Amino acid sequence: MSDPTASFLTRFLGVFVYSRRALELVWTTDRRLTLALAALTLIAGVLPAVIAYIGQLIVDGVVAAMAAEVPDTAGVMWLIVLEALVVVVVAASQRGISVSQSLLRALLGQRVNVMILEKALTLQLAHFEDSEFYDKLTQARREASSRPLSLVNRTFGLVQNGISLVSYAVLLFAFSPWAVVILICAGLPSFFAEAKFSNDAFRLFRWRSPDTRMQIYLETVIAREDGVKEVKLFGLGPRLLQRYRDIFKKLFVEDKKLTIRRDTWGFFLGVLSSAAFYAAYAWVVITTINGGITLGAMTMYLVLFRQGQAAVAASLTAISGMYEDNLYLSNLYEYLEQEVPVRSGKALQGPEPQRGLEFDQVSFRYPGADDNALTDVSFRVAPGESLALVGENGSGKTTLIKLLTRLYTPTGGRISLDGLDLQEWDVEALRQRIGVIFQDFGRYQFSVGENIGAGDVRYIDDLERWKTAADTGMAAPFIETMPDGYDTQLGRWFKGGRELSGGQWQKIALSRAFMRSDADILVLDEPTAAMDAASEAAIFDHFQSQSDTKMTILISHRFSTVRAADRIIVIQDGKILEQGNHESLLAEDGQYASLFRLQAKGYQ
Ligand code: ADP
Repeated sequence: MSDPTASFLTRFLGVFVYSRRALELVWTTDRRLTLALAALTLIAGVLPAVIAYIGQLIVDGVVAAMAAEVPDTAGVMWLIVLEALVVVVVAASQRGISVSQSLLRALLGQRVNVMILEKALTLQLAHFEDSEFYDKLTQARREASSRPLSLVNRTFGLVQNGISLVSYAVLLFAFSPWAVVILICAGLPSFFAEAKFSNDAFRLFRWRSPDTRMQIYLETVIAREDGVKEVKLFGLGPRLLQRYRDIFKKLFVEDKKLTIRRDTWGFFLGVLSSAAFYAAYAWVVITTINGGITLGAMTMYLVLFRQGQAAVAASLTAISGMYEDNLYLSNLYEYLEQEVPVRSGKALQGPEPQRGLEFDQVSFRYPGADDNALTDVSFRVAPGESLALVGENGSGKTTLIKLLTRLYTPTGGRISLDGLDLQEWDVEALRQRIGVIFQDFGRYQFSVGENIGAGDVRYIDDLERWKTAADTGMAAPFIETMPDGYDTQLGRWFKGGRELSGGQWQKIALSRAFMRSDADILVLDEPTAAMDAASEAAIFDHFQSQSDTKMTILISHRFSTVRAADRIIVIQDGKILEQGNHESLLAEDGQYASLFRLQAKGYQ
């Protein structure tokens, strides 16, 4: 075991670990405001001692004036004016502090949010699919506007109180060095205890984060638009709510223990420090009665002790709030510091464009998974060819597309385009060549036009291109019946937004894929599942007409469309089971043939 003192200190200092980083964050957000805040904090920290000192001069002045034959009233009056001025300066610096804090809060909130989002842009799909990491992202976003500044405020508050305490100590030193010792010793136990409990709370919080996450998830399911339908129809509500309650109960027991322990200790240590203060109080009074110090000095010392105690109490409150800020920042920094593999590859074109797309013994296993999602998959699609992937749910079709689009990197084998390994391609150049619609395509709460234009950011605002793409994607007819046409706001989140049917959304997504007119690989992951048969036929006619120049990869369960593909691959459990065209696969009389007959029977 390590040295207990050292470990205690580390735990104690844990409260301040993120203060430095929060300060750095504030400093780099706006140096002038930070400097102003620091200067004002210093002033607001020192001046209370100055006021106490002037107070002493005033009382002594009054006592001397009363004893003198010709009283020096003017001198005392000037001191009062001086004290009033200092009080004004204190008030001004408090205001200044609050102004700088407000401005910093706005700047810092924006800055942290931008940092979070910028980082999100560099992340890979795998990060978003990792529950713990995704949770960090959500938590980081949740309180981005308030937490960093709150920690800074508390740290500055602590510094301000610290400065006040030092200045009180300087003045008290003249009375007796022992008084300084009392001032420090009276505050320290509470201080350490508060820091320790804050740290405990911090660890408790982190440790049980999966429970908290489940609670948040339950809240979302019960109270959000997309969960409501099923929750109502299946009567899940009470059950989910009970689970929510149970988690709370479990967490509350721990919370209660810690809170009670914390406050009991806080109370007794508080009594101890009050006792020390009052002992010092008594000591000052007795010394005055015995003529050891002047009445003015006594007044000052009493003020110093009382304010010293208040400063200690304020510091403790600051510390006890710091654990929550720490919690936030530790999460934020873990998120921001997540390592992202550098994107390799610079090539903008391959050496042999006629080779098209090749999978060579490609295997893939999801991070943390026990089994391969794909094993030894090999096939080729030449320019102008169309490929259809057939297989049960979970057989690995979408995974294959994720590899092709470089959302994931194969764990074995190699994928190449135009004779060049995908990893050597510049990722942007590669993605420019691919138009893809996933099953769970985006339904952006933007205008219709932007929803389509999103397919190619270069032309996101180009009405003519929207129209062409919408024509090809079969979305134009219904868009034109909408009152605002391409300017119609979609979705329900914003006022006046219009919700579309599943099939209409799918046509929008198709049109989006067609925005990439120069993309020569078109990937459609069950694009027509929600679409009517006439639209489906029309869209596939269009594909066929494109096929002279382009590669099409289609995932579908409808054999009526699959059969038209130049090559059909049947996937089962991540492996290629059969491969060929419709005729050859029928002749082979394997899985494809039997599935085909099964479906054909349904139509007879
Ligand atoms: P399909 O598209 O053929 O329905 P997928 O390619 O989506 O199937 O899934 C193939 C396999 O990989 C399934 O067993 C699925 O459980 C698993 N899988 C899919 N996505 C992930 C993921 N993000 N993390 C871990 N496993 C996954």
